Amino acid sequence: MENSQYVILKKEKFNDFISALSKMQKLVAPVTKGYKNYAFEEVTSGNKIALKYIPTILPLKKFFMPQRETLLEFKLDRKSTAEAVVEYEPVTIFGAHTCDLAGIQCLNMVFSERPKDYNYLTRKGKITLIGLECNEYCDEYASCHLVNASFPGGGYDLFFTDLGGYFIVHVNTSSGDDVVTAAGLLDKADTTHINELNLLRDQKRKIFSNEVPIKASLITELFDVTFRARVWKDLEERCLACGNCTNVCPTCYCFDIKDDLDLSLRHGVRYRVWGSCQLEPFARVAGGINFRKDRSARQRHRYYRKFRYPVDRFSRFFCTGCGRCTRTCMASISLKETLNELIKESEDRVWKKWL
Ligand code: SF4
Ligand code: SF4
Repeated sequence: MENSQYVILKKEKFNDFISALSKMQKLVAPVTKGYKNYAFEEVTSGNKIALKYIPTILPLKKFFMPQRETLLEFKLDRKSTAEAVVEYEPVTIFGAHTCDLAGIQCLNMVFSERPKDYNYLTRKGKITLIGLECNEYCDEYASCHLVNASFPGGGYDLFFTDLGGYFIVHVNTSSGDDVVTAAGLLDKADTTHINELNLLRDQKRKIFSNEVPIKASLITELFDVTFRARVWKDLEERCLACGNCTNVCPTCYCFDIKDDLDLSLRHGVRYRVWGSCQLEPFARVAGGINFRKDRSARQRHRYYRKFRYPVDRFSRFFCTGCGRCTRTCMASISLKETLNELIKESEDRVWKKWL
């Protein structure tokens, strides 16, 4: 491991570092929210920040693609006009876990495809991302190792790992380097620090292992043989079609476009809002036909959008194993259980011998 890209922050300087960050631009970090919940909110001091936390109620996508976003303002006077709107605010996010960093990498791929999403990419350019390593599992719902998101895999400017009396910090971009220089509180890492980081990662490799009994390389095949599985019918009986699982998912990016007109019917805005494939009207098309009318088809679609379709298009899973969908589901539908059921139901299939 090359140590020129690493610096350290002693724990006694943490509060000063957070305070310095908050003076550079708006700073958000995980804070306690209600009973056993967390949310990314604005902070100015390190005391409020939760350094150990289960994934926040909403993922980081709320900063990259807000739940409601104005795209256009228009006037329908004698001369009709329309002006594009791009809403953004420079913000630093401190404390993003590796699963959430992976979620942003997925969104970056989607919104960078042609036609590029100018609003998303402009906002992304104004965000400084600082990661924070999970040294152990956050809770039993996580399945980050299965989808290769339990160790840092890029997508951040700085990345913090807690090594007891200090944090070791990976400087990954020039923006990250600028933050380190501007804060002026971090010291160069030496070989002892790098060795301690390597030791921690070795320990992590013993703790983190595939959370369901399948190799990641076989998940595509699993989904290829389970399109007509009984599991989807079971989910039909249980799912309430509330859409919570997609709202909290860091990689669900579907949205609807709507217009709001004022009472004069002359001025209005066009905006987008988060959509959900779990809601009944989502797949309704002209003529009233709905090609995913049944909840079983909608649930199946959700899983295939995480584990099958993106593999063809982006060569990666769009599940980051954060566990939010399971934590939030009022019907106790669990992602890990569903995968386990699919594996069980496919036991007699040919691919099973490859496990
Ligand atoms: S949160 Fe649960 S009940 Fe609601 S749509 Fe998702 S799976 Fe169905
Ligand atoms: S599908 Fe569930 S576990 Fe996977 S990224 Fe979405 S919310 Fe997290």
